[in-house]
Amino acid sequence: VIEIRNLHKAYGTLEVIKGVDIMARKGDVISLIGSSGSGKSTILRCANLLEESQQGEILFKGEPVRWKGTGLNRHPADPKQVLRIRTNFSMVFQQFNLWAHMTILQNVMEAPVTVLGRDRAEVEKSARAYLDKVGIGDKCDVYPAQLSGGQQQRAAIARALAMEPEALLFDEPTSALDPELEQEVVKVIRDLAAEGRTMMIVTHDMKMAADVSSHVVFLHEGLIEEQGPPETLFGAPTSERLRQFLSSTM
Ligand code: ATP
Ligand code: MG
Repeated sequence: VIEIRNLHKAYGTLEVIKGVDIMARKGDVISLIGSSGSGKSTILRCANLLEESQQGEILFKGEPVRWKGTGLNRHPADPKQVLRIRTNFSMVFQQFNLWAHMTILQNVMEAPVTVLGRDRAEVEKSARAYLDKVGIGDKCDVYPAQLSGGQQQRAAIARALAMEPEALLFDEPTSALDPELEQEVVKVIRDLAAEGRTMMIVTHDMKMAADVSSHVVFLHEGLIEEQGPPETLFGAPTSERLRQFLSSTM
């Protein structure tokens, strides 16, 4: 579904991604781990074309992103393609980003109605179903501020699902939450993984990464230091850096 080849990204003269390849096939759950500043969020944002990259290919269901220009002057060539890719990859952020002035139901319905132009009544029906699915079907008519952090994050996941995306991208979905609320969100992510959803998850939660991933990527200073199935990565890490990282986080 998503293939990233030889990705390079710099902010001015600061090179933060130095040649990274990641491939997510349908149903893969790929976790990106690594210390702060290693480039995890940047990769997710480049995959989604929220950030421009200077080198490398990004393929969406086999279709390469078309670029114009090179290096720091490289930009996506086709705004329609960018929009299509963004709407097919729904992103869930650490800070929920719900619209405060809209009810939970309105939050979930907004993009399918305004961006995709879907029928309002049908969207409402599926929005209620997604809210049920994440366990807050009774919260349709309240505002975000009336929900706990865990409920808000589950609403944000329902909102992402309502776009019926090819893949879900999560950037630290649980790190703003207290441990007990975190578990509610981990459970939803685990259910989505069991359903065969394609996901890329940036996380500091090694337990969740071990639990839900089909493949784990450990980043160090903008490069992949080690990657593999969670059993190997967590059970028998070979790189000294990864061993140190794991002993500092687990
Ligand atoms: P964290 O675990 O703290 O979220 P991360 O692995 O997600 O870290 P990134 O946010 O991808 O790291 O950042 C990678 C590097 O890029 C860091 O050195 C950061 O300072 C730098 N960086 C990120 N965003 C910008 C920006 N908008 N402008 C300049 N530098 C940036
Ligand atoms: Mg980050």
